[in-house]
Amino acid sequence: MQRESVTAYVGIGANLGDALLAVRQAIEDLGHVPGVHLLKASSLYRTAPIDSSGPDYINAVVAVQTTFCAPDLLARLQALESGAGRERPYRNAPRTLDLDLLLYGDARIASADLTVPHPRMWERAFVVMPLTEIAPWIVAPQALLRVRDQRIEIV
Ligand code: AMP
Repeated sequence: MQRESVTAYVGIGANLGDALLAVRQAIEDLGHVPGVHLLKASSLYRTAPIDSSGPDYINAVVAVQTTFCAPDLLARLQALESGAGRERPYRNAPRTLDLDLLLYGDARIASADLTVPHPRMWERAFVVMPLTEIAPWIVAPQALLRVRDQRIEIV
């Protein structure tokens, strides 16, 4: 039986090496994953690191249509992270590529490996602003107010 397809939102971030290239490449690679169809990609944004260190981040958010269940989609995202040479020397270390599953349809998931909606997404301008660009109906006005002091600019 063909699984129903779901719209999901993925947050992309990088702040090591050529971060612009890493984010652009991740968007392209995501569109080539069988079972994932890229619907929309936000602009690329430059943001100050939050709970992390190192140079500024490049961030984006994409909307995808997928036939994967949420854990399988997360596994695909993690495979792309590994492919980009991500290492995890310590928690919140600077990273070559970070992919977060922000929203998966209207699912609420709280398992050991996966929390959806992503628990910190509404606190972060680097999620809220690109999400507003591609899916403004999802973003409440209070969410915009909450992140208004965070430095963020379109690249
Ligand atoms: P990070 O270091 O921020 O990439 O966190 C990765 C870890 O967070 C992995 O062990 C994931 O299983 C877990 N995780 C939980 N919820 C999510 C989510 N919505 N998106 C991505 N990773 C998640």
